[in-house]
Amino acid sequence: MDDITKHKKGEERVEFERQKLFNLFMNAPALICVLRGPEHIYELANKPYMQMVGSKRNLIGTQIRKAIPELKEQGIFEILDKVYKTGNPFIGKEMPIKLNTTETGKTDTVLNFVFQPYSDSNGKVQGIISYASDITSLVDKRKRIEELSRQKDEFIAVASHELKTPVTSIKGYTQILQMRFSQEGNTKAVELLSRMDGQINKLSKLISDLLDATKIEGGILQFHEVFFDFNELVMEIVEEMQQITQRHTIIVKVALTTKIYGDRDRIGQVITNFISNAIKYSPNNDEIILTTSKAKNTISLCVQDFGIGIPKQNQDKVFDRFYRVSGDKEDTYPGLGLGLFISSEIVKRHKGTITVTSIKGKGSTFCFVLPVENIVKNNNISKLA
Ligand code: ADP
Repeated sequence: MDDITKHKKGEERVEFERQKLFNLFMNAPALICVLRGPEHIYELANKPYMQMVGSKRNLIGTQIRKAIPELKEQGIFEILDKVYKTGNPFIGKEMPIKLNTTETGKTDTVLNFVFQPYSDSNGKVQGIISYASDITSLVDKRKRIEELSRQKDEFIAVASHELKTPVTSIKGYTQILQMRFSQEGNTKAVELLSRMDGQINKLSKLISDLLDATKIEGGILQFHEVFFDFNELVMEIVEEMQQITQRHTIIVKVALTTKIYGDRDRIGQVITNFISNAIKYSPNNDEIILTTSKAKNTISLCVQDFGIGIPKQNQDKVFDRFYRVSGDKEDTYPGLGLGLFISSEIVKRHKGTITVTSIKGKGSTFCFVLPVENIVKNNNISKLA
């Protein structure tokens, strides 16, 4: 075979491969076009692409600038020029494109696309393959869900705010009645009112959890930081929680105390949440162990129970908003799935970490670690009080 024949055969082979690729492009479900040369002249535009830009346009053999002039203001020609010049691909994510087409009745399209340059055997760029997917309806759906979700959050915020005032008044009236009946020596009524008070407390807790969760979502959960004695707070809460459970004994093993800088009430809220979950999720066991330990720069607290435990695959999700482990037993435990979400946010805002270790059927241990010195540094306070 002489050189000319060899060269011809080579060219035929290249043309054959090119046709194969073009056939593939023509039948692909994505929006594909091939633009040749520095002027970006249409060499191929498949059916989905034509449908998007309007099938009445004459594309093949025409420069993209002339075929779809409205792309000028949208910066597309500059991107194509750059891809051709540099030989680097360009990836467009969720790019809104406006097209003047009456055919589809649609002018705004959102695309994910790549402009991929292709070269000859010497590495010289010959043109650009544009490969795109129309994600308009996906983006519309996501936006609709995000609104709806905002409306839901606003509703929860308003509803919980509105519920708070009457519940506070009911609590006040209950206390007045308790006092009156107590003065009259009506022990039965006092006992009933004390149960009522317990239920009102649960209601208030649910409402304030809902309010806190919406504040976290809106980024407006306030913190009031002060120096406080860590063990003093722990003991205060343990005493309070011990009173609401007859079955459980809270065993406390605390390390030497330290003063920490943070929001006392919010950190207290995390400890309360750990203990009340330990009580709630270990109805058939009577021991809860609370431990604290102190390292050079950190203070940590763990609450261990010997209750129902959490399956391994659910453990990292328990800190998510509204997440509750579902299963035949767990369904019977009341709750909104907000306590640990709020706790995790509080710990994170104090630059700490929150963790869980658990074995299903054996029990769980929830811990948090707070970086004592970092908290101080972050607040520009050089010395502990
Ligand atoms: P709630 O208890 O109101 O549902 P939380 O956010 O406090 O919400 O907890 C989320 C979920 O994590 C709970 O629904 C429960 O499935 C699981 N969980 C939390 N603490 C424990 C625990 N001590 N033992 C077993 N499961 C727990």
